[in-house]
Order: sequence, then C-alpha cells, then structure tokens
Amino acid sequence: MNTSDTILLVEDDAQIRKFVCIALASEGYAVHEACSAGQAASLAASLRPALLILDLGLPDRDGQHFIQDLRAWSSTPILVLSARSQESDKVKALDAGADDFLTKPFGVSELLARVRALLRRRQQPPLDAAPVIQFGEFRIDCVRRIVTRRGEPVHLTQIEYRLLVFLAANPGRVFTHRQLLLQVWGGHAVDNHQYLRVYVGHLRQKIEANPAQPQHILTEIGVGYRFQP
Ligand code: CA
Repeated sequence: MNTSDTILLVEDDAQIRKFVCIALASEGYAVHEACSAGQAASLAASLRPALLILDLGLPDRDGQHFIQDLRAWSSTPILVLSARSQESDKVKALDAGADDFLTKPFGVSELLARVRALLRRRQQPPLDAAPVIQFGEFRIDCVRRIVTRRGEPVHLTQIEYRLLVFLAANPGRVFTHRQLLLQVWGGHAVDNHQYLRVYVGHLRQKIEANPAQPQHILTEIGVGYRFQP
C-alpha cells in the first residue's frame, strides 16, 4: 500500500466510523481511525496521512479549533463531516482551513467522489512543517500544545497559542491583519483589528525580552506582522 493512500478518519460515532471505514477500505485506502481530537492530532503527526476526514462534533474539542491548530503545521487536505445544517459551521470550518465538507447523512458514492477529488487536487507530497517548532530559547510542541522556554512551561491562552504557532510556523512571511484574524479567530473577526493588536501585545509580554523592541513578532506598519525566529 502506497503511503499516499493513507486516510485518517476522525469520528466519535462508532456506526458512522464503521460505515466510512468499510467504504474507504473497499477502494483500497489504508484507513486509520481516531475518535477524539487529541487522538487525531497524535495520529496526524505520526502517520502524515494523505487526507483527513473530520467530524466537526467531537467530544473533546471544537472541530474548527482543531483545524486551526493542525493548519499551523500540516497542509493535509481536510474533508469535514457535519451533522449540523447551519451554513455558519461549514463556513467556519472552511475559513479555518478545511478543504471540503459533506453533510450527514451522505452516501458512499458521494463520499468516495469527494475523497478522490481531494486526493487529485494534491499535486505534490505535502511539505509539512515539523510538529515541533523551535526559535530562540523557545520550543513549541504542536501535538501536545505545550510551549516551553529553556524547558520551563510558558502559559498562553488559546488565542495566544494559536497566534504564536501560526506565526512561528511561517517564519519570515508577512501576514495581513485580515489573514491573521481569519486564521486565529475565524471569519467573524476579520474586521476587528483591535483584537489582534491586544493579543500581539500580550504575546510580546510573554515571549519578547523587551516587548517595546520585539525581536520575534515584528510589526509591518499598515500591513500586519512578520515572525522572525
Ligand atoms: Ca460527532
């Protein structure tokens, strides 16, 4: 079995998991199963699957937040399974970095067609970042979601963590306010530039030696921010 055919299925409903698993296996895909977001993050890092199929309603984490964290270090295509009919949940998942969605209940042929389309779209093997990011005296374990400075834990809020990981995973690249707001907060926040200013301030207090003269999170005036390792 080619490793590019590996699919990680994240679904807490055992019946749906079995149904999807059988459908994918019958087409020759190597399917690995996870029933929580925590388990899914570990497996995504160790297996490096070609595709991730993700139920949005998981017991331990919001699917949207899971996608945002994963996207900091993985470009694996994500097909979202949603039981919710609300447009906003799908839009949130897509804004967070999902590639496509299926609304439950769905049929086998529709599922397989979406899977084939996503695997086709992937033109080259994903060039994923390591699930550990290091800069200066800092180390970010993206699977366990732990940030340390010289081995000592650095306490960050969810938002601070997401902002730091996204920036640190893309060193040297300038991100606009809108891109960062979209990536870290989601689509509802793209116009709230003050969120970003406040949280960049918090983060600088925690990671910069001199927050007034930052060495890592640099301001690009009128544009956004750039991360310097
Ligand atoms: Ca569920």
